[in-house]
Amino acid sequence: MRIDVVSIFPEYLAPLELSLIGKARQDGLLNLNVHDLRTFTTDRHRTVDDTPYGGGAGMVMKAEPWAQALESVAAARPAGAAKPVLIVPSPAGERFNQALAYELAGEEQLVFACGRYEGIDERVIEWAEEHFTVRPVSLGDYVLNGGEVAVLAMVEAIGRLLPGVVGNPESLVEESHSDGLLEYPVYTKPSVWRDREVPAILLSGNHGKIAQWRRHEQYRRTAERRPDLLEAFDAGTLPRADRTAL
Ligand code: SAM
Repeated sequence: MRIDVVSIFPEYLAPLELSLIGKARQDGLLNLNVHDLRTFTTDRHRTVDDTPYGGGAGMVMKAEPWAQALESVAAARPAGAAKPVLIVPSPAGERFNQALAYELAGEEQLVFACGRYEGIDERVIEWAEEHFTVRPVSLGDYVLNGGEVAVLAMVEAIGRLLPGVVGNPESLVEESHSDGLLEYPVYTKPSVWRDREVPAILLSGNHGKIAQWRRHEQYRRTAERRPDLLEAFDAGTLPRADRTAL
């Protein structure tokens, strides 16, 4: 997969050189490029913002530097590849979640446009439809100062789903949100720590019973912490043995 990120703070994306995503880049599993929006300006001050039409507080990101930057990354798309997906981080976008991460992990090229100030001139979003499939995406119902933090989260969530990035792909199957429930609690050695014991079932060696216990814990934890997820959860999608554990 190719990912392009456009930002006025390219240094903000430095953590994408670390850990599993950094290794995926080194191993050639992920071709990630960060671009400085200011290199697409033409004036001496490298201006990327201006006052909003209609008045009001704050500044708005100018259209032309964005058009130049996005045209440049669109031109870099691999020969024969489908239209890239342009993700515009925005608190006014659709909510990012694991299902969307899976969907986006199947794309050939993703482009992220990091807004700042009051956001990007809306005409850029309309114009970009010519070159991209455009998706305004929100990290959650709160307001950040810029799109960079949202991009760090989204690239990590998407990148770890790419084949070969996570060492053991089975760990992706059992985690929270993969089947609509939260993950069960996990423990490691020692079996007794500060008088607290690991649930005995996990030491039993009975894999069937352990699987049932884990299913039950997933269900209990989801009911307690995220009843909204449980409402949307369809137990009918589970294998029969798992259903009886709920
Ligand atoms: N005035 C905008 C509004 O109320 O919708 C908020 C602008 S915010 C201060 C600046 C930038 O931060 C946005 O353009 C977007 O790129 C990013 N941003 C802020 N909150 C976000 C969120 N919840 N999810 C994704 N990006 C966000």
